[in-house]
Amino acid sequence: MEIKSTMAKIDRDKMKKDFKINISIKPQEGFKKMMEEINMIAKQAEKDNMLNLIKNMITYIGDDPDREGLRGTPNRVLESWKKLFGGYKQNPKELLKTFDKETYSQMVILKDIEFYSTCEHHMLPFFGKAHIAYIPKKKVIGISKLARLLETFSRRLQIQERICEQVTNFLMQELKADGAGCILEGIHFCMTSRGIEKQHSKMITSSLEGSFKKPEVRQEFINLIGNNR
Ligand SMILES: [Zn+2]
Repeated sequence: MEIKSTMAKIDRDKMKKDFKINISIKPQEGFKKMMEEINMIAKQAEKDNMLNLIKNMITYIGDDPDREGLRGTPNRVLESWKKLFGGYKQNPKELLKTFDKETYSQMVILKDIEFYSTCEHHMLPFFGKAHIAYIPKKKVIGISKLARLLETFSRRLQIQERICEQVTNFLMQELKADGAGCILEGIHFCMTSRGIEKQHSKMITSSLEGSFKKPEVRQEFINLIGNNR
């Protein structure tokens, strides 16, 4: 069998010497099991590599990664990345448990949704509020799914403009909406950390697609978001 000849080529002693990898499962115990173990070891090696990298970053900054308060930091950073960059592992299409609408063709709005993202230019956080709206034509999406859709796109290395576009593009393409709009108000660390006078400045970006390009629809969207801004 083809697979068996590949297995024979895995030189255990060489792997142990070169990569400090010790595979405990023998080929006869099953190829699948052995591959699982190799994958696990590779994942651990990748993680160790990342932990070292973060340690080096701390040294580069000018601190001592081995002092008590920083000893667990590389691990905590990696843990926080799971949440901060969890969007890469989500497929927005999985959110589409849509149901056909009956007669509803009015604007659906979810406003003041909190979002957290990371700017791709500086790898610094930006966060704030999002307002998402669309006018259904054939399909509607659960309102909580709108918030999760935003998460899928925001929990990545991003620029604020692109998040807006990705949300509206998704609603237009996947829901075949009549129109869609997304407004984001974000505070960017890369802006606020550089000057006291910019501490409270917000960046506002929007994407309007389909019928939301019409002035009266856009106005309705803005009115419904509220005039307390
Ligand atoms: Zn930035």
